[in-house]
Amino acid sequence: MLLHVKITAIFYTSIIMAKSWQQQLKNALSGDHSKTLQTQEDYSQQAAKLFRPVVTDEVINAIQKQPYTGALSNQFLPTSAETEDHPDFTSDPVGDHNALADQGIIHKYHGRVLLVASGSCAVNCRYCFRRHFPYHKHLASRHNWQAVIDYLSAHTEVHEVILSGGDPLTLTTSSLQSLTDQLTKLNHIKTLRIHSRIPTVLPDRIDKPLMDWLDRLRFHKVLVTHINHADELTDNAINSLNKLKQHNVTLLNQSVLLKSVNDDVDTLIKLSYALFNNGVLPYYLHLFDRVQNAAHFEVDISQAKLIYEGMRRKLPGYLLPKMVQEVAGQTAKTPVN
Ligand code: SF4
Repeated sequence: MLLHVKITAIFYTSIIMAKSWQQQLKNALSGDHSKTLQTQEDYSQQAAKLFRPVVTDEVINAIQKQPYTGALSNQFLPTSAETEDHPDFTSDPVGDHNALADQGIIHKYHGRVLLVASGSCAVNCRYCFRRHFPYHKHLASRHNWQAVIDYLSAHTEVHEVILSGGDPLTLTTSSLQSLTDQLTKLNHIKTLRIHSRIPTVLPDRIDKPLMDWLDRLRFHKVLVTHINHADELTDNAINSLNKLKQHNVTLLNQSVLLKSVNDDVDTLIKLSYALFNNGVLPYYLHLFDRVQNAAHFEVDISQAKLIYEGMRRKLPGYLLPKMVQEVAGQTAKTPVN
């Protein structure tokens, strides 16, 4: 059971500050740090084959430093629960495939287009709704950015471009720059939104060249972080958020309601205040998307509503995220009341 997972790798020592963010990312992707997770009794090799475990030094350190709750490790640890068969859970629960307008271009919502700009992440979240996404076929990467620009040129009703993935901040700053050099020529694009977990899981990526790039952009800049629990806000993570704030980036957060991670009122209230104290507004609380191999994360809808009501009673309105569900084929997120 996930609740029984404990991180006990006491010999692990970190030299995060001595490594570049590129080296830290390389180590995470190489699976080196997942060896730490492998010491856990619930670690499943079979589940690891289904979706490669990827974690960063920052996450491993956070797991080891904080009193054990499972809230962090449960998000990244492959367990045997992933190998169970649940027929109602699918490989594409949010209908990404049907919304693909061109390679790596997802056009679901009015006025906004999402680019699958990277197939990599600095962490692989076990509940990710894109854990089965065929990035090798559907990537808006450097080699086909002209197709992206052509698509956007033909869609002048689009005013916001969302960089997603994977995690777009795994791209080099020069890659990001080459994309925005093109985007900036399209006068109808007013806002650049970045969906990224990197400010908290790989804070060193929020470096000066990235800040310089952000400063050069003419767009409104929005970064939507993905933080599920206040324990993810390490000192390094807070520092990276502060930097983004200082460079005029509007910071919002989306969380996913996950069993054995954040499925109680007090945890989510604490998260809202922790976000606010660090310049981030709680934006969405997503119901778990019913993706194959992650059914054990689902919180029952009636329980989700009770939790949300508990939050509503105690939080000021501006700290209450919208609880929503992404329903395949819908042209907007569906509020859960
Ligand atoms: S960082 Fe985002 S895209 Fe990457 S695995 Fe986690 S939830 Fe999925």
